[in-house]
Amino acid sequence: MKVKRVASNEPEPLKTASQELGQNKIVLSESQLPTNWYNIVAELPFDVPRPLHPTEDRAVEIDDFDWLWPIECLRIELQEGLYRTDPWIEIPESILDVYRRYRPSPLVRARSLEKYLGTTAEIYYKREDLNPAGSHKFNTALVQAYYAAREQHSQIHTMVTDTGAGQWGAALAMACETLGLKCCVFMIRKSFDEKPYRRYLMRMAGADVYSSPSELTETGRNILRDDPENSGSLGIGMSEAIEYVKEDRGRRLALGCMSYYAVLHQSIIGLETKLQLEQIDRSPDLMLGCVGGGSNFTGFIAPFVPEKIGGSPIEFRAIEPDSIPTLSEGEYRYDWADFSELTPRILMYTLGHRFVPPPVHSGGLRYHGKTPVLSALVKHKVVDTRTFEQRRVFDAGRVFLRTEGVLAAPESAHAVLGAIDAARDASSSKRNPVIVMCLSGHGYLDLKGFSDVLDLDSSN
Ligand SMILES: *Cc1c(COP(=O)(O)O)cnc(C)c1O
Repeated sequence: MKVKRVASNEPEPLKTASQELGQNKIVLSESQLPTNWYNIVAELPFDVPRPLHPTEDRAVEIDDFDWLWPIECLRIELQEGLYRTDPWIEIPESILDVYRRYRPSPLVRARSLEKYLGTTAEIYYKREDLNPAGSHKFNTALVQAYYAAREQHSQIHTMVTDTGAGQWGAALAMACETLGLKCCVFMIRKSFDEKPYRRYLMRMAGADVYSSPSELTETGRNILRDDPENSGSLGIGMSEAIEYVKEDRGRRLALGCMSYYAVLHQSIIGLETKLQLEQIDRSPDLMLGCVGGGSNFTGFIAPFVPEKIGGSPIEFRAIEPDSIPTLSEGEYRYDWADFSELTPRILMYTLGHRFVPPPVHSGGLRYHGKTPVLSALVKHKVVDTRTFEQRRVFDAGRVFLRTEGVLAAPESAHAVLGAIDAARDASSSKRNPVIVMCLSGHGYLDLKGFSDVLDLDSSN
């Protein structure tokens, strides 16, 4: 698709008022905030295999990793007890209190975008860009910090993590601040250098932030010795974070997107979306989202998956950058989540744990693997995939800003482009599908990336 340029002297798209067309923004009241997460693995007709030990030929047990993860995260990841059997997991009251600051989030009909495209489709976007750290990641960061803070006998004082573009680090920094924990972030070097604003945000929220690969860990030192210019990757950052946790019993690892527990927590997105669509008497024909580790997209679609498996024609589409085609071209096999083979091995689509993604601007999508439940859904053909080239994605981000007045994160712009392509297909075949996308975050701290790709410094 060649995105038609909206001339800058052509204000028309933003002017399209919606009064004559009905409701624009579908909002829920605070009392409609879901009070349970949806645990999709309990209802799938197939098993999502449990992780294997990093080096031994057996399943992982809680004791293997209780030094690394908060116990509750491990219980979710290993599908222990109610996490294997119960589709509804109660959200703790103190989490709900914080969720209420920014949830339920609106679902918005993209009328101006529809009009600009001249499409016969209805397009909706779920806004996860309006929360404290600017992306969906705060939804799970908060809970992980809560589990750690609650584990009193372990005296956990610090959460450690790796971050790409910095959204995850910023979310965790704010979550730790909320729960009274310290936060330490290994930020992949390319973003550390090119996205200083998220680094400032994390530090302002009280976190320690290191450029990864770093001199703080053996993994980092080895990589820098062989390749002083190494631009880092989430796999390397995770290895560094794990090593760092190992050195102090009061530290634990937090993971933004690769884990199943992140998916469970993100199901709040899909649960709200379901209520909102019901409120306007719509059911989705196509749901789409971008995938890095897979948490926003999988949480978004999870409550709709049983319908699909039960025979409803709804389509789910996961979008990746063409330079990191994990679901589209990766292998489905056991692989480590990190570079140094310290994590459990997970059955997933992977480009290989030593894959160093090209330095594209969508830092949050630069990951070699995908969360096991999403991988299983793709393997069983419940979810289909697309890959997009960066320039088209950024053009879609520009169209979205000029029509809807919302600056999507580069990651989220993948979902926007997916919706635009689908809307164009619908028009050419004269159908009226309901297309719903997850807008995972805002792009205000990514304007440098937009500028590089769209050449905003030189053109007027
Ligand atoms: C991290 C991030 C992603 C990718 O992570 P998922 O686990 O796939 O959701 C997508 N969008 C934004 C804005 C992010 O920050």
